[in-house]
Amino acid sequence: MPATGFLPRSAFDRLIGALVQAGYRCVGPQVRDGTIIYDTLQATRDLPYAIRDQQQPGSYRLEDSDAARCFAWANGPQALKPLLFRPHEVLWQAQRHANGSLRFLPATADAERVAVIGARACDLAALRLHDQHFLESTVVDPGYQARRAGLFLVAVHCTHPADTCFCASTGDGPRATQGFDLALSEQDDGFLVEAGSEAGERIAARLPLESASAAKSQAADAEIDAAARRQTRRLPSRDLRDALFARLEHPRWQAVAERCLACGNCTSVCPTCFCHREQDEPALNGNTSSHTRDWDSCFTQGHSYIHGLTVRADTRTRYRQWLTHKLGGWHDQYGRSGCVGCGRCISWCPVGIDLTEEVAALLGEAAHG
Ligand code: SF4
Ligand code: SF4
Repeated sequence: MPATGFLPRSAFDRLIGALVQAGYRCVGPQVRDGTIIYDTLQATRDLPYAIRDQQQPGSYRLEDSDAARCFAWANGPQALKPLLFRPHEVLWQAQRHANGSLRFLPATADAERVAVIGARACDLAALRLHDQHFLESTVVDPGYQARRAGLFLVAVHCTHPADTCFCASTGDGPRATQGFDLALSEQDDGFLVEAGSEAGERIAARLPLESASAAKSQAADAEIDAAARRQTRRLPSRDLRDALFARLEHPRWQAVAERCLACGNCTSVCPTCFCHREQDEPALNGNTSSHTRDWDSCFTQGHSYIHGLTVRADTRTRYRQWLTHKLGGWHDQYGRSGCVGCGRCISWCPVGIDLTEEVAALLGEAAHG
């Protein structure tokens, strides 16, 4: 998509101003507790300027850099997921009246308008998958639907992939190609701006955009292409369904289970994982009860417990379930793999388990490269 214009860095705060004026709360990446997470953004000076990340299996570290940029790093642990699929949410409440009758009340969906500045291509691909799951299946999730309707997305094309990223091999990055209202290419002196929707065009029209030179567009494209080439991890195919289901008894499942702590970190940080559990939380007076939904993980014992039986009783079968569902079963459910190559599960696994390495071992191929 051609650039709509060039926004000088000195005018970057005008983007926040235009979004606030249009009724959005702006959210953007910020450094917190040694990592980068999304939080309410008051001004662009709060973005992670002159920061770079070092990510390896089981390792994430931020460092100062001399880059005159605020998006010169790869994704932190948090995707768009918690903004839309809340980690804890009340789904409905029950009230008991004095005569013993019960009344059930749906939870009111929170319909705040939120503009996210800095979404990466992999997270837009994950959002597309969550839209399929929460909005396009037979039952629509009203809370997700309300939050999604109020979302404005400002993507940033990724130019600094981490060592753990492999979005080029899944076809989901590093260039953002879909799902955004505006997309930015960061340069030292400002941003090339593209509009991807009518809402994006309306915001772009409020910005003091200069014309984007061909040289700037070429430089931006070259940075994105170079970012794709720098990625060393990969998956051997975008469809591993048959290959994985043909290897359900492979000894590698036991080998990885001997390292895996079944902690569920990988599923928490994964932008596409949506497993959850529901429970009732009665008030102490016995007159009201809330039915809640919390994130869960296929690595927990309770997740596969049904009527006196834990279906997946050991870590071998839980890791196998995670990987075969993510890279195999999703093709049947959603028409593609559930992995967008963000690499979070590799960086945030406390023992450094790397799914690209596990797949390579299962398929008998060399990892990386
Ligand atoms: S499986 Fe890992 S690399 Fe793939 S989308 Fe989930 S966290 Fe990212
Ligand atoms: S693969 Fe790593 S992050 Fe996932 S459950 Fe096992 S130890 Fe935890």
